[in-house]
Amino acid sequence: MPRKPFVGGNWKSNGTIESAKTLCASLNSGAAAYRNKVEAVVCPITPQISLVNKLVRKSPMKVGAQNVSASKEGAFTGEVSAGQLKDSGIQWTLIGHSERRTKYGETDEVTAQKIEQCQEAGVSVIFCIGELLEEREAGKTDDVNKRMMDAVYGKIKDWKKVVVAYEPVWAIGTGKVATPEQAQDAHAAIRKMISSAVSEEVADAVRILYGGSVTPENCKDLIDKPDIDGFLVGGASLKPTFTDIIAACVPAIPLKKPKFMKVDGVEPAARGVNFFGKVVKAPTKVEGSEDLMEVVVGDDTAIVTLSVRGDRVKVCEVGKTVRVQNAHVSMIKGFIRVAVDKWSALKPAEEEVASVNEKKDMSGVEYELTNN
Ligand code: PEP
Repeated sequence: MPRKPFVGGNWKSNGTIESAKTLCASLNSGAAAYRNKVEAVVCPITPQISLVNKLVRKSPMKVGAQNVSASKEGAFTGEVSAGQLKDSGIQWTLIGHSERRTKYGETDEVTAQKIEQCQEAGVSVIFCIGELLEEREAGKTDDVNKRMMDAVYGKIKDWKKVVVAYEPVWAIGTGKVATPEQAQDAHAAIRKMISSAVSEEVADAVRILYGGSVTPENCKDLIDKPDIDGFLVGGASLKPTFTDIIAACVPAIPLKKPKFMKVDGVEPAARGVNFFGKVVKAPTKVEGSEDLMEVVVGDDTAIVTLSVRGDRVKVCEVGKTVRVQNAHVSMIKGFIRVAVDKWSALKPAEEEVASVNEKKDMSGVEYELTNN
């Protein structure tokens, strides 16, 4: 069973009523791109939770808290209990964020008590873990993550109400994002830890998010990694382009056996088309465009001309097999146009395409690229 991607936005101690209203308007207008495909939650400052809840009620966005009490309700000035979150209609909370651990002395024991309270009250948790820079440099990343996870296993009865966020502290708010490989390694190790400590079934199902200087630009390469199931986003969740990060997590139609298929036309335009092809002609610039290039790729049945934007063109070396995911196919003036835009994956593929028939140009009207 594939894991549904999850994106959390942590507004931290930022914003005013006015800025929250503006952000909510952009959350609403970007909702169609991920509705039903990605679970999304924003965590504003506590006094804005009910306002934000109201403002985004027609979108799929849920609203969560940034913190919760380790105790039940009672004589605990300044604290809000898990039961009170639930009573106020708040389904989610962050626990163990590095800022709470390092600036407010939140220990592993306290995170465990908070998770216990949330489990009892039925509040879902984004549980944050991750190492400091010196811990990474000392090769202790997995040890730190294990220690933080070990502290809470005993308190979790319902894993459906837990999402883990791996957030290397050196990447939070620094602009220094982990490489996709660094993040994938840490995520795979965390999943293995959960498998040993709890069960393989739980490890396979639990969402593990990456957090730390995620932006609309760097998120696509991260989400392509098999153990990265989404993001916890700080700074970039305060911008109108936050929904671009959520939309980037929408799973592409899964790739099966690539083939070209004959169709009568492409009407209306098709999105989410996936295929492989070997680059048969070096990229050429499209006249009148700043960054649009044309690249010819194919397989053993036909070739097609792709429009490729930006840096993605760098992978288009003649002879290389590229994998295109989530392309946009449309009919323009009787020709099929395959656009590989900024949210499409275009990268060297491991699969080999046997041979390329350069004569059969299927950029004309009668073929659509598909693999389904
Ligand atoms: C965070 O606060 O959880 C976070 C990941 O922040 P940023 O995205 O700004 O690094």
